[in-house]
Amino acid sequence: MNILIVEDEQKVAAFIKKGLEVTGYVVEVAFDGQIGLRMGQNGSYDLIILDVNLPIINGFEICKQLRESNIKTPILMLTALGTTKDKVLGFDLGADDYLVKPFEFEELTARVKALIKRAKAAPLLQTTLKVVDLELNSDSKIVTRNGIPIELTAKEFLLLEYLMRNKGKVLSRADIAEKIWDISFDTGTNVIDLYIFYLRKKIDKDFTPKLIHTQVGMGYVLKEK
Ligand code: CA
Repeated sequence: MNILIVEDEQKVAAFIKKGLEVTGYVVEVAFDGQIGLRMGQNGSYDLIILDVNLPIINGFEICKQLRESNIKTPILMLTALGTTKDKVLGFDLGADDYLVKPFEFEELTARVKALIKRAKAAPLLQTTLKVVDLELNSDSKIVTRNGIPIELTAKEFLLLEYLMRNKGKVLSRADIAEKIWDISFDTGTNVIDLYIFYLRKKIDKDFTPKLIHTQVGMGYVLKEK
């Protein structure tokens, strides 16, 4: 398990490093934001412990840039500023957890363990999905069928991604409503049927085989046959 610490206070960095090494982690330290960002971007860490107040580039900016460059390494932010505003900002920028200085070392190791465990339990989702000649990339948001780009709205995209990630599995309207619209299913609305209709028009109408199938009385399934 490799951990990167980005912390300019040498004493604090040394204290964390030593403690984590005793626990069995391999630890590297960056003492300023610029080096920290560069090291974080090579992406070979299981966790990044990131101070907020850093020379050159601050921790919030590093967090933001790492997430923008699609680095998904869990980030634990450290700061002396324990205000709610900072916490919210950190989470908004993609931090996974937050620890206010000064902290007990036991608290830090508990967070570290929890974050690494959580990351291992939820393996990174595949970004390129393919069913027959239908392809979807969840990073670039590009969808093609038989190599032809297909324009989808944001909701259509989410719906298609959900169907593709669950290829072969019948999804009820209630499943879809909860997952895509974040609402519990209301029998008075046909919004899901309508969106399935839109999707079919775009991804199935001019192509074979048809991929979206209706399972009468049960829901929808995306599959080859
Ligand atoms: Ca600092």
